[in-house]
Formats: sequence, C-alpha cells, structure tokens
Amino acid sequence: MDILLVGAGLSGAVIARELAEAGHRCTVIDGRPHVAGNCHTERDPATGVMVHVYGPHIFHTADAGVWDYVNRHMTFRPYRHQVRTTVGDRVYSMPINLLTINQFFGTAMRPDEAAAFIKAKAEPIADPQSFEEQALAFVGREIYEAFFKGYTEKQWGTSPQNLPASILKRLPLRFSYDDNYFAHPFQGMPERGYTEMVESILDHPGIDVHVSTVFQPEMASRYGHVFWSGPLDGWFGYDLGRLGYRTLDFERFEGQGDWQGCAVMNYGDADMPFTRITEHKHFAPWEEHGDSVLYREFSRACGAEDIPYYPIRLVEEKALLGDYVSRADGEEGVTFVGRLGTYRYLDMDVTIREALDTAGAFLAAQKAGTAMSAVVKAPL
Ligand SMILES: Cc1cc2nc3c(=O)[nH]c(=O)nc-3n(C[C@H](O)[C@H](O)[C@H](O)COP(=O)(O)OP(=O)(O)OC[C@H]3O[C@@H](n4cnc5c(N)ncnc54)[C@H](O)[C@@H]3O)c2cc1C
Repeated sequence: MDILLVGAGLSGAVIARELAEAGHRCTVIDGRPHVAGNCHTERDPATGVMVHVYGPHIFHTADAGVWDYVNRHMTFRPYRHQVRTTVGDRVYSMPINLLTINQFFGTAMRPDEAAAFIKAKAEPIADPQSFEEQALAFVGREIYEAFFKGYTEKQWGTSPQNLPASILKRLPLRFSYDDNYFAHPFQGMPERGYTEMVESILDHPGIDVHVSTVFQPEMASRYGHVFWSGPLDGWFGYDLGRLGYRTLDFERFEGQGDWQGCAVMNYGDADMPFTRITEHKHFAPWEEHGDSVLYREFSRACGAEDIPYYPIRLVEEKALLGDYVSRADGEEGVTFVGRLGTYRYLDMDVTIREALDTAGAFLAAQKAGTAMSAVVKAPL
C-alpha cells in the first residue's frame, strides 16, 4: 500500500520504518526543513556545540525493547542528567532531595529525621484538589513557595491554585542524596545527536522523505492510509476551536568555558521572567568546546503561528478534546499518532513504543482484512 506519514518526528519515522520493512511504500512529509521533529539537534556552526534546538532532550527509559531499538540506530553515550535551581541568591540541588532539604533549612538531618521534619511541615489538607493544596499537603509552605510556586506560575501562566493536583503527583521528593533527575535504568545521549538517529530510522529503500512540505488535504486521496502526527485539531481545520498549548521562546546567548557548571539551571523566583537556562555542551560531556551555547527559556500561551509544546489539558481543554476525539473516531483512512495527534505529553521512549504498537496494529488489520482504527492510543 502507498502510505503517507505526516510528520518526520519519532512517531512518523518509527511507523514508516516498520511499515516499509513489511513491504509498504511510505512517504514521510514534514513542514519543517529537517527531520526529527521536536527532538531535532544540530551542530552550532560558530562553536561546534551540538544544540537541542527545541529544548533539552534526555533519553531515559525502563523499556528494554525501546532501548535496543534506539541503540540499533545510534551509539548512545552514558549521560546522567543533573539539574540545579536558583532561588533568591542561593543554588539548590534538584529534584528535591536530602541535600536540598538540608541546604534550605540549614540542617544536617539524616533520612528518617528529614522525613519526620517534612511530615511535620506538611499542612493537614484531607483531599487536595489543586496543585497548591497538593504541594502544601506534601511539603509544607516554605518548600512550596521557594521551589514550586514561582516556577509553576511561569511554566503554566496561571496560579497553582487553578491547576489540578494531579500535576504534582509526578514530582519526586527523595530522602536520600540521589540527585539523578531520572530514575529509569537506561539513560543516555545519542553520540551524534537525535537528528542523525532519526535519519538512520528513515534510511530504507521503501521510504521517501520530503521536508519543507506542509500537508494539503488533497494529498490524502493519493494514499491508501495516512498517519497524522500533526495537531489533532489541525486535521479538522481547527473548526471547533483550538486545543490549548503552552509554547516556548528560547533566547540564545554564548558564553566562555563552562558558563553555569550544569546542563540545566532552573529559576524558581516569580520575578525572574524565564524558567531555566540550558547549557548545551553539557549534553555531550565526551566533547570539548572552548565556547558555550546557552538558551534562556520563556513559557507563554501558544498562538496560532507558534509551535505547540505542552498540552494544557485543564477542564475547558478536556471538553474540547472530547469533541475532537469523537470526530476522530469516525474518520476513515487516517490514524492519529504522537504527541500532537493525541494531545498528550509523551516522552521519547513512550512515543517510540506507541509508534511500534501502532504499526503492529496496522499490519495486523491488513492481515485480517479489517479497517485500521483512527485512534489507537486514546487521548482521554
Ligand atoms: C521542551 C521539551 C522537552 C522535552 N524533553 C524530553 C526529554 O528530555 N526526554 C524525553 O524523552 N522526551 C522529551 N520531550 C518529548 C519529545 O519531544 C517527544 O516525545 C517527541 O518529540 C514526540 O515525537 P512526535 O513525532 O510525536 O512529535 P514531534 O516531534 O512534534 O513531530 C511532529 C512533526 O509533525 C510535523 N507537522 C505537524 N503538522 C504538520 C503538517 N500539517 N504538515 C507537515 N508536517 C507537520 C511537525 O513539524 C513535527 O516535526 C520533550 C518535549 C518538549 C516540548
């Protein structure tokens, strides 16, 4: 079958590869001038530093099959992600661990003492509804105000009182000195960047790639099936309204030597307009560069012309999402995939796993002579 994949990010690339290996002819298009979607990396011509163009990307997973898959397409180098945060005129360890607690309170507590101390600080809120209530019930007011309040307001553009408690359930609090940002057993960085990895995935005689090519509705009729990794609401011309996203602005600047001493420095204070600074050379500790490339990261509401980064998924967006999902369910000849097609935040490993499963579902449907579903991974 001739198959069109809209989007040359991980979703489009992995599905195309699986289907091409099964004998289908795949055309992959992307509106951007490069493949790899938001994971795109490129070497900065002035400094030689490998830059994560759409923000820092660290590969981490517990899925041995996915780890094996990416290692077949690129050598991964050991990398341990460490983050610090600046609050007031102090720098603290992240995610919040025993060092952060001892630094913040000027104490020298052991794990059991710190756990009892934080328990005593936690506010007695029986059934926390908002992010703020959840944080207060979890760590108490001092830690909440220093590390969560300002950062969250900047990231989401709203008070933590308006955000659901579920967002905070994902943030770890450790009573040990473990400051490895991710807890997954497999973690690493692609030696020559994510874009070369995605190019390797797409390198198959059954796959044609066209970058700088925006999807036009009349293209669909030329193909037996379309996999859509563009925005779910974009497929329908946004006719019910736009699903809400946050977008990011990156302010690039250069420094000398090791400018900030770590890959990512968060800024917790509300009066500091950016959320974090990324120093890209730290993502390739095996390389040496005299100069440095850094990004100051600003978060704001996503307009029609901006790149959608983080789905908001508050009550209002969920209602609109429900309407789009009902319509998507009724579509034929198209399957909605990836972070934009399903309006979910997806890490790279989850994206690859879902893409492999989706390709498997398509091949199974072909074999059984049944129609391929429009929605394989339910957005709600
Ligand atoms: C700031 C940030 C940091 C992240 N950090 C990490 C991390 O550290 N670790 C991790 O595992 N994951 C991270 N992620 C998640 C990671 O970016 C995603 O898992 C991955 O990009 C999803 O791939 P995708 O193919 O589904 O989507 P995308 O990469 O967004 O690809 C979709 C592609 O479709 C194209 N497209 C859309 N509409 C059209 C159209 N109409 N016509 C043609 N082309 C179109 C777009 O140009 C885009 O290239 C991060 C995400 C963000 C936003």
